[in-house]
Amino acid sequence: MGLLPGGFWDEHGGLHREFDLAPLTGREEELLAARAAARPAALVTEVLSRCVSRLGDISPVPPAVTRQLLVADRNHLLLQLRRATFGDQVRATLTCPWTECGERMSVDFSIDAVPVEPPPHRAPHYTETLKDGQEITFRLPTGADQEELSGRLAVNEAEALTALLARCVLDLGGARPDAERIAALPAITRLEIEERMRRAAPKVEQTLAAACAECGRTFVAPFDIHRFVFGELRTDNTLLYQEVHYLAYHYHWSESEIMAMTRDKRQTYIDVLADAIEVLNHGA
Ligand SMILES: [Zn+2]
Repeated sequence: MGLLPGGFWDEHGGLHREFDLAPLTGREEELLAARAAARPAALVTEVLSRCVSRLGDISPVPPAVTRQLLVADRNHLLLQLRRATFGDQVRATLTCPWTECGERMSVDFSIDAVPVEPPPHRAPHYTETLKDGQEITFRLPTGADQEELSGRLAVNEAEALTALLARCVLDLGGARPDAERIAALPAITRLEIEERMRRAAPKVEQTLAAACAECGRTFVAPFDIHRFVFGELRTDNTLLYQEVHYLAYHYHWSESEIMAMTRDKRQTYIDVLADAIEVLNHGA
């Protein structure tokens, strides 16, 4: 059992924070390998819906719920899913950012040690007064916003941020603003709104501090949780199906039984089989 840093507010105003999750199985690996090029935010929604078995009173947890989770809560769940599947220790490969160095290095850390900051207070939305005297009500960005805007972010970041504010600002000075009105706001007001949203949100650290053994300098590298977890999991489906075939051939298990196993468990049986076959071939 775990606890979301933020939490999910249902339509009746109930807050759900406790969660149970199950490690990824061959079925999720198949999905990830087949859709590796698909939009990552939509993939996070689907994978979380399959692996988070309970969220507060909600079980099973449909994509409609995992999509509405706060960005930090989804990142927290992804890290916990990685821990449940492969353990707490992570080895990340970084490149020294100083151009005259560029040394590649591996950095070890524990998922438990990734800093998580809860929000100052939890609410479905927040009403505050801006410095210019206008009252604002906003909600925090969710997976739905990431799904909607991820494509646009790559094309035009400023436009995507305007669209994000238009989605999250529920009321500004007595009316819900559209993207045009958000775009017309003074830059300082937009910055203030972004800063207030940032302060109200829970946070999961997405940077790694490292020291370069080659040049001796320290630096902070961005650590993209989506890319890390999915990059680590991306399995060639050919290899996955070979493993399934190998286990089915020797153990006579069904495809669905084998696909319901985690990668670690498949590997354990493959190792046991390899030892047993070795004994058969060469005698004990
Ligand atoms: Zn260096």
